[in-house]
Amino acid sequence: LYILGIETSCDETAAAVVKNGTQILSNVVASQIEVHKRYGGVVPEIASRQHVEQITIVIEEAMRQAELNFSDLTGVAVTQGPGLVGALLIGVEAAKTLAFAHSLPLIPVHHIAGHIYANRLVKEMTFPLLALVVSGGHTELVYMKEHGHFKVIGETRDDAAGEAYDKVARVLSMPYPGGPHIDRLAHEGEANIDFPRAWLEEGSYDFSFSGLKSAVINTVHNAEQRGETIEPADLAASFQTSVVEVLVEKTVRAVQEYQVNQVILAGGVAANKGLRNHLTERIAELGNVDLVIPPMNLCTDNAAMIAACGSVFFEKGIRADLSLNANPGLDLESFNR
Ligand code: ATP
Ligand code: MG
Ligand code: FE
Repeated sequence: LYILGIETSCDETAAAVVKNGTQILSNVVASQIEVHKRYGGVVPEIASRQHVEQITIVIEEAMRQAELNFSDLTGVAVTQGPGLVGALLIGVEAAKTLAFAHSLPLIPVHHIAGHIYANRLVKEMTFPLLALVVSGGHTELVYMKEHGHFKVIGETRDDAAGEAYDKVARVLSMPYPGGPHIDRLAHEGEANIDFPRAWLEEGSYDFSFSGLKSAVINTVHNAEQRGETIEPADLAASFQTSVVEVLVEKTVRAVQEYQVNQVILAGGVAANKGLRNHLTERIAELGNVDLVIPPMNLCTDNAAMIAACGSVFFEKGIRADLSLNANPGLDLESFNR
């Protein structure tokens, strides 16, 4: 089973070949970070244009590294959504073209399902499992009773965790994307500022980060007005502690309520050292729960995760025809069979 994955939902043009759903034969990512950096965030029109320029090169490089011809492939999997519509379209059109030209099955993949399936490239998934998905656009707790079946038990009501990181980083005049910079700085500071933690209603697995973000911004502005200085490292450490504590405690509570065997961490913010360390400690305390955290290059956007998920969807019989369209608001649970 050889699946070519294509991912263009945001600012990474990516293609990868995965064998049997678990073995990476190639994983090529052309990041646009340098291009978007000067604007302080992703500019949708520029992202689309970059994807157009990169897509063919990236796909050919993925095939070359995998040492395969298109006729050797079992199918083509592509991110259908969610994401930026103009960016998604480039990947979807490329996948449709290849599927048509080489008579290959076309498999639509949800970007977040892809982030979750990045873990299968590291370790076999054991069900039931709980995935904590933390990325630039999403913060969700997803329960899976079996392969390809997703139940969102909690999600953010406002900002995603990564978005909060990026906005706080901007206030501290750090370059985009700010998450890694705050993470680094946090380890040099002390969490001595008491920022709010949004636990929400009792028993809720939803998240909220906009209050925390505002609290950080207000703290910085108030200090500026009073002519005081706040140690940026302490601010970063305090912010990170607040984010990580809520993410980890809600995950631990869900692990206990849903009696899962495995916890997997997914999405760009899974690269966060504070989150990785604290989650590892707390899950270890539970004793009998397996924790999987993918390596950094599989946490951020890539196409190996799309191919890994596409392999499972392929075996479940999920197919798209050439009328497939990008769907920026695609629902994760719509793939459940
Ligand atoms: P989505 O997957 O929701 O569509 P996305 O694809 O843009 O969004 P990812 O590429 O998965 O998101 O993740 C990017 C985000 O991860 C950015 O917000 C970035 O700041 C954040 N991030 C990356 N590394 C770290 C880190 N070490 N600490 C905190 N945040 C991080
Ligand atoms: Mg990205
Ligand atoms: Fe992503």
